[in-house]
Amino acid sequence: MPPSVGDMSTEITAKHWTENTPGYDEERRGYQLLDPHQPVHIVGATSPQDVQQAVRYAREHHSKVAVKASGHGHVTPLDGGVLITTSRLDQVTVDSDNKIARVEAGATWQQVIEAAAPHGLAPLSGSFPGVTAVPYTLGSGLGLMARRYGFAADHVRRIEVVTPDGELRNAEDDPELFWALRGGGGNFGVVTAMEIDLFPVPTLYGGSLYYDLTATPGVLEAWREWTATVPDEVTSAVGMLPFPDIQPIPAELRGKYVAQVQVSIVPHGEDDGPELLRPLRDKLGEPLMDTVTRLPFMESGQIFAEPDRPDAFRSRNILLSELDEQALATIPRLAGPDAPTMCVVGIRHLGGALARKPAIDNAVGHRDAQYSLTVLSPGEDDVHDLHRAILAPWSEYVVGRSLNFSLGPLTEDEVRDAFEPADYNRLTALRARYDPTNLLLPNHRI
Ligand SMILES: Cc1cc2nc3c(=O)[nH]c(=O)nc-3n(C[C@H](O)[C@H](O)[C@H](O)COP(=O)(O)OP(=O)(O)OC[C@H]3O[C@@H](n4cnc5c(N)ncnc54)[C@H](O)[C@@H]3O)c2cc1C
Repeated sequence: MPPSVGDMSTEITAKHWTENTPGYDEERRGYQLLDPHQPVHIVGATSPQDVQQAVRYAREHHSKVAVKASGHGHVTPLDGGVLITTSRLDQVTVDSDNKIARVEAGATWQQVIEAAAPHGLAPLSGSFPGVTAVPYTLGSGLGLMARRYGFAADHVRRIEVVTPDGELRNAEDDPELFWALRGGGGNFGVVTAMEIDLFPVPTLYGGSLYYDLTATPGVLEAWREWTATVPDEVTSAVGMLPFPDIQPIPAELRGKYVAQVQVSIVPHGEDDGPELLRPLRDKLGEPLMDTVTRLPFMESGQIFAEPDRPDAFRSRNILLSELDEQALATIPRLAGPDAPTMCVVGIRHLGGALARKPAIDNAVGHRDAQYSLTVLSPGEDDVHDLHRAILAPWSEYVVGRSLNFSLGPLTEDEVRDAFEPADYNRLTALRARYDPTNLLLPNHRI
């Protein structure tokens, strides 16, 4: 039993829980089922003032603070201390004239998409709309229109944040804090809301082409060659996954080792989406399944069609300067159906607007990376050595890593690799300035 940090009820007006309060378990858990937080107190914030009270309470009781939104990125469990949950702080307001959304800390991308869509606008959301917009953006944010518009962190106008001293600040008034928050994750404060850019994209041409990797082994090579030819309007990825031979899986995919080519094209007109995809289709022939179509942005979750249920999982990511043909050929052997634990390998095509500096500089690193490669395993097995072995053939092409796709514990050196060396030094100095007592327990600590 972790040490008590006092009686909260006299100091906190928000709903709060301790281990003995009904609902404690549901409140501390999220999408990731591994290593749940073990807080003494949980504060369910509904306002910035609730967050301030919780931070001040933790300060006064020399205790740690962690934040949970929907728990998709959860890696570092709190043992004792105060957990702030943000799921009730979830308002989204859209200023359609200026193409801006104000998004509170706990709003999911789905909520932002639904608020923006009636105005013909869309945010820089990612593959799974159930992920929370604010933490995704703090960790850089690689979305469905990434090559067209850049990282989500490149399009943040304002940030309201409670810093570890308990003050509620407008981060944009403090250029160093504003720089660090956009890419530096949850290391500098508890963000209560952000203003982000929206884009006039009512529909996408997108979906997935599924191929049997055993019957069509050239999928990865064909996708790699195609990515070298496409304009910035095309953002795409490929996932390799052994589908179990069970009922809820579509009959076409059941029991097969599948390459899922995930395509998201920002179209100019009716024809350019199909035209841009045609060379890849022509090369690969008839897929097992084809969901690519013109779809309202509201349905953009169909592109990756990721499962919508809490799970235990671990992943490891690397950012690459190129997709080496020989390293690519090792994936089916090392991570395919014969791997000791199920592995899903996902490669996303980067470049385009991701490679360009944003209007206001931020802490996002490795803009020169051309591809992102992630290996993910569901379940509770220790996959640390397996994932390292799968990534080993890529060592000479690694330029860094993405923290958003690192859904497992990292060493200090591994966190450092997510940033440019000078930026990491700047971030550590800022962390020491804003959080000198290490009050915050962020997911990936700088
Ligand atoms: C299925 C799935 C799909 C994904 N797709 C993408 C994708 O397409 N692109 C991409 O870039 N990422 C993607 N991610 C990664 C995701 O963006 C990160 O894991 C993000 O941190 C998840 O936010 P969350 O609220 O869901 O997680 P949480 O686990 O609730 O939060 C993660 C961490 O963020 C910090 N944090 C949360 N809220 C705040 C706050 N208000 N203030 C300060 N710090 C805070 C805390 O350190 C917390 O531990 C995906 C993850 C999953 C599981």
